[in-house]
Amino acid sequence: MAKALARVFVTMACTECRERNYTTTKNKKNDSGRLELQKFCPRCRCQRLHRETR
Ligand SMILES: [Zn+2]
Repeated sequence: MAKALARVFVTMACTECRERNYTTTKNKKNDSGRLELQKFCPRCRCQRLHRETR
């Protein structure tokens, strides 16, 4: 029903260089805290942990 309302847009930033590389959506009910994902960072040119930013 209110499926779209449960999903919010978040920006994923590299924890090393602070570059904002990805935007994604998350379900607030499933992910109440900060999202953390292993993603490729173009600036670091390797896989880095990316964390949700505001
Ligand atoms: Zn980086």
